[in-house]
Amino acid sequence: MKGHRLYIDGEWVLSDSEAFFDVVNPSTGLVIGRMSKAGADETKRAIDAAAEAYKKWSVTPPNERGAILRRAYELLMENKREIAEAMTLEQGKPLKEAEGEVAYAASFFEWYAEEAKRIYGETIPSWYMNKRIMVLRQPIGVVAAITPWNFPAAMVTRKIAPALAAGCTVVLKPATQTPITAVRIMALLEQAGLPKGVVNLVAGPANDIGEALMKDTRVKKLTFTGSTEVGKLLMQQAASTVKKVSLELGGHAPMVVFEDADLDKAVEGAIATKLRNCGQTCISTNRFYIQESISQEFIKRLAERLKTMKLGDGFEEDTDIGPLIDNKSYLKVKHHIEDALKKGAVLEYGGGLKHVGATENGGYFIEPTIISGICKDMIISTEETFGPVIPILTFKTEEEVILAANDTNYGLAAYLFTESLARSMRVSEALEFGIIGVNDGRPSTAQAPFGGMKESGIGREGGKYGLEEFLETKFISMAL
Ligand code: NAP
Repeated sequence: MKGHRLYIDGEWVLSDSEAFFDVVNPSTGLVIGRMSKAGADETKRAIDAAAEAYKKWSVTPPNERGAILRRAYELLMENKREIAEAMTLEQGKPLKEAEGEVAYAASFFEWYAEEAKRIYGETIPSWYMNKRIMVLRQPIGVVAAITPWNFPAAMVTRKIAPALAAGCTVVLKPATQTPITAVRIMALLEQAGLPKGVVNLVAGPANDIGEALMKDTRVKKLTFTGSTEVGKLLMQQAASTVKKVSLELGGHAPMVVFEDADLDKAVEGAIATKLRNCGQTCISTNRFYIQESISQEFIKRLAERLKTMKLGDGFEEDTDIGPLIDNKSYLKVKHHIEDALKKGAVLEYGGGLKHVGATENGGYFIEPTIISGICKDMIISTEETFGPVIPILTFKTEEEVILAANDTNYGLAAYLFTESLARSMRVSEALEFGIIGVNDGRPSTAQAPFGGMKESGIGREGGKYGLEEFLETKFISMAL
């Protein structure tokens, strides 16, 4: 079985202990690869390499940095199928979705290849005529990037592409469940001509690697995507050396369907936000608010549409929904459904749970499930489920639903479906979320700022905003 290596200072290396950890196929529970297991020592060497490489990369002309990013985009697109297969194998999502994710991941290289050339400073008129004020934007330094398992390619490139465009160097720690997609991306960056040490990959126990990254004064920036719980811990650790942080954390998205909505559009929107990646996305809807007069019709149409969707191994041509990532996730989703039903919710569709894996480590499938009659004391109404469960709540008025939708500590994404232009503007402005999809269940795109308010995070990824996160602002006052 192939043993994948760490990537440090341009070399593919084993950890000092030569230990590996297993990578499992979530559809079957079978081991499909092994990844070299790094710890604090290897992480320190990766930081050494990134700090050394920073000296040259930070002063490499922006058009040269951009050309390498452009090449990385082309290579990712040329190798789309192969990377998608590696992703489906370790993450479980249907192959067609995985291919879509590789294209999305590549789009960050495409976008930031151009942005690298547009890091403009400013001149500001001074109040003293013998003075000139200049503002420079400079790379912040070595970046620690920590990514989750649900988007093994896109979460890596959404961080690395702007960091490299800005002139920063990177130490990446991908999620333990999905390191192989990240290894493939490193290999393509190497092929694209990225100098040694500019990106480095370490994988292994999160605590050891995380601590080594957070303690090191040479690491100036943390960019993290993952749970709110771990985000808070890393924020505390980063405080000891006052690192700049950007955190893309959990969500609890509401989707509001008004009675003037195009219901078929709303059903497709619900499928897009809830069933992509088996509901394991941070912007998945977790609360479906349907205006009372149309709730029965919405449930009926949604259930009919769900009947056409096939659950299965991501490699089967006609699979629409893959497995959950692991047993822990399965138990959580199961608990959310059971808790709601026990407290009086009604099962409207689905509810089937099965374990078809050859081992306890995978093969957990949950049928798309609609439950109605959700109330506040049910866990599902306050916690992120991360699975294909559609909880239906009803409402009477616009004012009431805005209050309910905002009644959460999360603030990542929200969706609304209406054919009224005035209402879409009014409600979008009132919702306390970083991303609003109006009649749109798939808002993510490389050009736009992605990120959350409240406990869903700090900072933005994507577009010109994503680049800001990797830049320092320097003011020069020059007396003539
Ligand atoms: P997680 O448990 O927080 O893990 C995310 C990453 O953090 C993994 O690489 C993990 O490593 C690492 N990690 C865990 N504990 C750590 C520690 N003590 N120190 C340093 N690193 C540590 O989250 P997850 O379960 O993989 O991902 C799901 C969560 O991510 C959900 O809440 C989802 O909403 C959120 N998410 C947010 C966005 C967004 O853009 N806002 C996007 C995608 C996902 P190991 O794998 O080795 O444990």
